[in-house]
Amino acid sequence: MTKAFSVFPHRYLSQDMLMEAIDPELECVSIGQSVEGRSIYCLRLGTGTKKILAWAQMHGNETTTTRGLFDFIERLKGDQQLLSQCNFALILQLNPDGAFRYTRVNANGVDLNRDAIDVSQPETKAFMNFFEGFAPDLCLNLHDQRTRFTVGTTKKEAALSFLAPSADTDRTWTKARLEAVRIISHVYRQFNRSVQHRIGRFDDRFDPQCFGDYLTQKGVPTILVEAGQWGSDYDRVITRRLVYESLHHLVDGFCIAPIETDALETYLNIPENTQYGYDVGYFDPLKQLWLGMRYSEQLQNERVVFEEEGYEELDPAADDFFFFRELK
Ligand SMILES: [Zn+2]
Repeated sequence: MTKAFSVFPHRYLSQDMLMEAIDPELECVSIGQSVEGRSIYCLRLGTGTKKILAWAQMHGNETTTTRGLFDFIERLKGDQQLLSQCNFALILQLNPDGAFRYTRVNANGVDLNRDAIDVSQPETKAFMNFFEGFAPDLCLNLHDQRTRFTVGTTKKEAALSFLAPSADTDRTWTKARLEAVRIISHVYRQFNRSVQHRIGRFDDRFDPQCFGDYLTQKGVPTILVEAGQWGSDYDRVITRRLVYESLHHLVDGFCIAPIETDALETYLNIPENTQYGYDVGYFDPLKQLWLGMRYSEQLQNERVVFEEEGYEELDPAADDFFFFRELK
């Protein structure tokens, strides 16, 4: 654990920064190339039979789960029991060009998470080729979510959100989907109280171009993990830690947790995400209105800066807003 938590203290994380910190003793294979010719790397750990494929930063500007996964790997290296049970394939940056530019999309301007059927991009091709060959038993699709996401109507930020993606438009509870539900329920039971009920459930509208939906449809249990905001921690150091912890709970849930008969009930009781969050807000006494603003993120000299956008008027009767910072 020497390197974990101490490297990458900020949101920007390029491939060069990442590769410099990766333990050179780890098995690292290239599974393909990005549009701009960067290798897409996959770390391989473990000799067990339970195959777990995880990938982060398919959206290049979503680095919190990459950082949490890095910490998880640092700890995993010494966990002989888990390494003898599982066979891990871990892609820390599926979109290295987007990571370099700090963009959601790849260098062709395509959102890879809307390319699962088209497979029009080299990054998607590399992933699908690897996926077919590896044939995982569990997929973990790791992302960041914006500050706007809140837990149900509680007016608490969704520091973490999980989803067992749909396999069809009817949102059928298929076998693969129920396995994802079982594991998420385990994580939720283990973890929700210690994160002060800051876990939400992501929207399950079916879109087969999204990796999670596509893979669930193919019968592989897949879990979407979204790292969110906690208070004023814009570097997301706290949620990075929560991602690290939840990866342990997810793997434990997959490997050892017993089958609970009420897993689906537990899952459905996780409050669905709302979008009540505003980064800054205040009450305007002249207008007699609440105003809320959401930052935009810009990359400047390898640092992410949060810039103010315009304020919008909020409806006090709707009471559907929450401020990370309230101006007095
Ligand atoms: Zn994302």
